[in-house]
Amino acid sequence: MSTAPSPGPADHGPRDIENVVIFGSGPAGLTAALYAARANLEPLVYEGIEPGGQLMTTTDVENFPGHEEGIMGPELMDVMKKQAGRFGTRFVLDECTGIDVSSWPYTYKTSQGEGKARTIIIATGASARYLGLPNEIRLRGHGVSACATCDGFFFRGVELAVVGGGDSAAEEATFLTKFASKVHLLVRRDELRASKIMQERVFANDKVVVHWHTEVADVLGPAEVEGIRVRDARTGEETDWPHIKGLFLAIGHTPNSKAFVEQLDHHDNGYLITKPDSTATNVPGIYACGDVQDSVYRQAITAAGSGCMAALEAERWLAEQGTH
Ligand code: NDP
Repeated sequence: MSTAPSPGPADHGPRDIENVVIFGSGPAGLTAALYAARANLEPLVYEGIEPGGQLMTTTDVENFPGHEEGIMGPELMDVMKKQAGRFGTRFVLDECTGIDVSSWPYTYKTSQGEGKARTIIIATGASARYLGLPNEIRLRGHGVSACATCDGFFFRGVELAVVGGGDSAAEEATFLTKFASKVHLLVRRDELRASKIMQERVFANDKVVVHWHTEVADVLGPAEVEGIRVRDARTGEETDWPHIKGLFLAIGHTPNSKAFVEQLDHHDNGYLITKPDSTATNVPGIYACGDVQDSVYRQAITAAGSGCMAALEAERWLAEQGTH
């Protein structure tokens, strides 16, 4: 990681006191940046450890309005970043590690230093969840993955397992049939949570086998996945499936709110709490938008919409303080 701003002229680095600091560079953060930049607030975006956010690991995005034929996730994020940059947004490849809101302007810490900001917009998103299996982390990247679109390509002609029953699991199971000889969808209950249309795609695909009441107890293999141990959720009986060569997890996400939960109100599951019809947190001048505060919709377009709200609210609040 580097603190060098990109892109922009040399004087585009961090200032003594920033008007608006934005943490996160997914659809929420970049839309907040676009609006703040067009309000002449010269926002500084800390891009985080996954610049561009979750859309960087997707392929076709078909439901972002304005792209009739769809657009690739990374391309969408690239043009969003350029659009925000065009109006004077500055970007830093660094991440927030904590904030101190005991005095204003607020202090924030990053992996490589600290700074002061009059307003802060938190758009740090959410990350894929893992099961916590004994061998899961060891085999991550060696057959265990939480991103079918990133890693599916590597599993041609073999049998795979996908864990989960939501839209992600349904979508990933269907997608993986492009490569795998067979995809086993492991569902812990006796029904899918996924939307009807996604369910229909799963059931219509003869390469997908759905296993109800089925959990994963462990993933097997010395250096790469050479099978999984499944457990019947009703009886607890465990069976080894040596034919599975890749395990894809699609069991939801955890909000990236660790750096903020000491200071800001949050739900038990870590999602930051914002006021109704607002992105305001419990601390004046600090806003949260996108997946870090949204456990319900979690769409690029809703994240972008809330990023817009956050920037407008930050701008109004700065005006009320007489600083802009
Ligand atoms: P969800 O929270 O909707 O679903 C998570 C799934 O994982 C559930 O079926 C859950 O089971 C299961 N699960 C959770 N923990 C475990 C565990 N420990 N062991 C086994 N199974 C587990 O997450 P998604 O990521 O699927 O979706 C998130 C949001 O994104 C949703 O709003 C969804 O609609 C949206 N989305 C939309 C898409 C689209 O429209 N193209 C594509 C992907 C996502 P249980 O049901 O028993 O709780």
